[in-house]
Amino acid sequence: MNVSDSEAISGILASAGYLSVDDIENADLIIVNTCAVRDTAVSKVKAQICRFKPLRNRKKIKIAVAGCLAEHEGESLLKDLPIDYVIGPDRYKFLSELEGGVRVSVSSTDDENGFYSGFSPVRKKGVNTWVQVMRGCDNFCSYCVVPYVRGRERSKPSKDIIREIEGVVSEGFPEVTLLGQNVNSYKDGDLRFHDLLRHIDKIKGLKRVRFMTSHPKDLSDDLINCFGELSTLCEYLHLPVQSGSDKILAAMNRGYTNKDYRLLIDKIRKRVPSIALSTDILSGFPGESDEDHALTLQLVKDIGYDAGFMFIYSKRKGTKAASMEEQLKREIKVARVNEIINVQMEITKAKNSQCIGNIEEVIVEGVSPRNPSKITARTRTFKNVILDGTASEVGSFLTVRVTGSTGWALEGEREGV
Ligand code: SF4
Repeated sequence: MNVSDSEAISGILASAGYLSVDDIENADLIIVNTCAVRDTAVSKVKAQICRFKPLRNRKKIKIAVAGCLAEHEGESLLKDLPIDYVIGPDRYKFLSELEGGVRVSVSSTDDENGFYSGFSPVRKKGVNTWVQVMRGCDNFCSYCVVPYVRGRERSKPSKDIIREIEGVVSEGFPEVTLLGQNVNSYKDGDLRFHDLLRHIDKIKGLKRVRFMTSHPKDLSDDLINCFGELSTLCEYLHLPVQSGSDKILAAMNRGYTNKDYRLLIDKIRKRVPSIALSTDILSGFPGESDEDHALTLQLVKDIGYDAGFMFIYSKRKGTKAASMEEQLKREIKVARVNEIINVQMEITKAKNSQCIGNIEEVIVEGVSPRNPSKITARTRTFKNVILDGTASEVGSFLTVRVTGSTGWALEGEREGV
């Protein structure tokens, strides 16, 4: 979401006459777009901003803090950091008027819905681009700051989304990823997310669609039925589970149980057996016992995700979980998350080995950073394939046979050549 917001910021500033520079020494304005979802992200970004201080003093460069940290900590950042402006995620259209100082707001009651429809984002070149379909979240998971810093859920009108995707296809992007904090809650009148996918599927020239993020409690049968039926919809689903313990899931306010989640996965796999799945896990939530942790490990083993994103719980100011008793010691949280990561690493390697011999349609994304005679390509199931090729092939679709696995990525060769 922040990458997409940064593209919107670039578009807003470009329309005000700003140019981006490759060398930071030549900048008049530095915008640091921030994440506040975890403590480590906040610490890192604050340290980075402090490193800009000599440059700011020497060159009189202005520094703005944008994004969720701006919203979460507000004007106090002006006292704590060597910065000039603070601007929240729904206020970027005021970026060109920053001389006024601080702008902090997520209010969705005024005319700011955060979609910046009057501005064209400056999109990073590539084969995939981001299209925001909704912003904000109403779920209030007890550990999460998103509803406080990104505001309540609001959906972009479907006609604007269709027009935007038609535009990016004509710019040459064959693939889009639809973005929202909880895309399953998308609503435009009676039109829901699965309806939107069906409309998008008809867009001429569009080859691939992905979306993130889904909430298990809102993943409807109608949406599951889109997999395997819509030719553009890739066979890949990111479905955060966060914990395998019902006690912890209830304390997190996630709205489903271990059993509910497993039944959902069974349903999805019945529909599309080859679908690739990934998840998020939050380890070390307040009150998490060894038994709760064991339930999470067991769930990870039983589901057999293709990939997982594991995080350590950290207290976020203003959330319900921050005031819960039984906060765990850091060493316990680290040990648990490492155990889950190690289990998932072995599963990922095993899943990738199982792909050897498969014939896959891939899109070439770029030249391998490690070997200029190799290219990196992406399967519909979001796996990376390395094969011989050149930069001129970026954007091409190829049919490849998977010949090996490096553990994290697949190796392949062109089929029928
Ligand atoms: S659904 Fe996601 S974004 Fe919304 S509150 Fe929960 S974790 Fe945060």
